[in-house]
Amino acid sequence: LGIVTRGTIVCDLDGVVYVGGDAVPGSGAALAELARRGYRILFCTNNSSRTRAQTAEKIKATCGYDASPESVLGSAAAAASLVAPEEGRAFVLGGDGVRAELEAAGIEMTADWRSADVVVVGIDLDLTYEALAAAVLAVRSGARLIATNHDATYPSPEGLKPGAGAIVAAVEVATDTRAVCAGKPHEPMRQLVRGAASDGPIWVVGDRQDTDLAMAHAEGWRSALVLTGVSEGPDPGVPAPDLVVPDLAAFAAALEDHPR
Ligand SMILES: [Mg+2]
Repeated sequence: LGIVTRGTIVCDLDGVVYVGGDAVPGSGAALAELARRGYRILFCTNNSSRTRAQTAEKIKATCGYDASPESVLGSAAAAASLVAPEEGRAFVLGGDGVRAELEAAGIEMTADWRSADVVVVGIDLDLTYEALAAAVLAVRSGARLIATNHDATYPSPEGLKPGAGAIVAAVEVATDTRAVCAGKPHEPMRQLVRGAASDGPIWVVGDRQDTDLAMAHAEGWRSALVLTGVSEGPDPGVPAPDLVVPDLAAFAAALEDHPR
């Protein structure tokens, strides 16, 4: 039996595969089924707090699907792709994921804002005023400002919590500058997806129209909106997704019949 490539599923994580520490019911079985049917499964997340390996672990631990670190495309890697080692040193306001991807890309990091040439801001679960002030001082001294993503919020079982975009906004307001953004729906992340996708159609499955589905529309990829995260239905005024389904399991079932 030859390997049949049916296309690529670019699957968002928060609000699609899991919410907080809990799997979306049926998501693990749906991913295994799609993989069995010959789709390449990629995970595309704007959450930069974890490394690829940690994210793959979380997918396995929550929904049971055996994801490889290589199948995880994150906004931290997309941000690192915007920095050249020759550009100098990076000050990070963010988590392990950002540091790991900068290190993998050969970018030197500094904890001293005075020696920073680039400031990379992502979600920082240990955010302090001191670190925020250091990022602002570095940008005010000429460092280039890069954001992993602009998501204002992310879903948790308790409700919507502040996302990286809320932290980026604080730096932008205090510096009167606008960050270059790496994550969905922006070009650096789209480039990571293009590089990892197989032949055939690309489907983006997500719970956010302004990131997941906007990325699909920008590239002419197919899109499916699931209702297990932040969205309660298609927003008016933006291009409609190709499919609106209750959850990832319903997407896998719908795809069976979808013309290719
Ligand atoms: Mg999401």
